[in-house]
Amino acid sequence: MAKTKLMMLGPPGAGKGTQAQQLAEKFDIPQISTGDMLRSARRKGTELGKEAAKFMDAGELVPDEVVIRIVKERLSEPDAEGGFILDGFPRTVGQAEALDEMGVELEAVLNIEVSEEEVVRRLGGRLSCPNCGATFHEEFKPPTEEGVCDECGSDLVKRPDDRPEAIRERLKAYHAKTAPLVDYYRDQGVLIDVDGEGTPDEVYGRAEAAISD
Ligand SMILES: [Zn+2]
Repeated sequence: MAKTKLMMLGPPGAGKGTQAQQLAEKFDIPQISTGDMLRSARRKGTELGKEAAKFMDAGELVPDEVVIRIVKERLSEPDAEGGFILDGFPRTVGQAEALDEMGVELEAVLNIEVSEEEVVRRLGGRLSCPNCGATFHEEFKPPTEEGVCDECGSDLVKRPDDRPEAIRERLKAYHAKTAPLVDYYRDQGVLIDVDGEGTPDEVYGRAEAAISD
């Protein structure tokens, strides 16, 4: 039996979202990302959704305590009974401890390992269209005409977030706050390292094999 109570861990640019989506489809389990959950709780107008909306509207981070209760609410829905894949939560050791206290037992935490160089190569090459939102990549998905959007003909830009200095800052934040989760889950015996270099298909093959035995 494959493990189906999963969490994705890894630096920005590791491809967690892509891998999570494919695993969710393959094993027919919901992919649960914090951002999606907050938006959904808000749309449904639940008490928690209203509480979260106050912070979101003020442009503030939704506090851990609210996020944790929203995750709990989401995990108690019927489609999560057979498993789930958490993407972007927990983000800190404090959140991981709260998840434990909730009685949620993860079967596998997939730690997608990618070098800093590779992260900068992947994220640093992204190009976005300010007009239609289409995205390209200098190396992996170049537009037909250099610097011009295939969809609408606008000039492509590099978002401030995707500049090398910004990427290194994001990596620093990851190493300070989220990387301690690697040790936390290794100590629990559920951490599985997955080599995140190579094509998305190659990485997916490794991730699927890792939870299937
Ligand atoms: Zn465009």
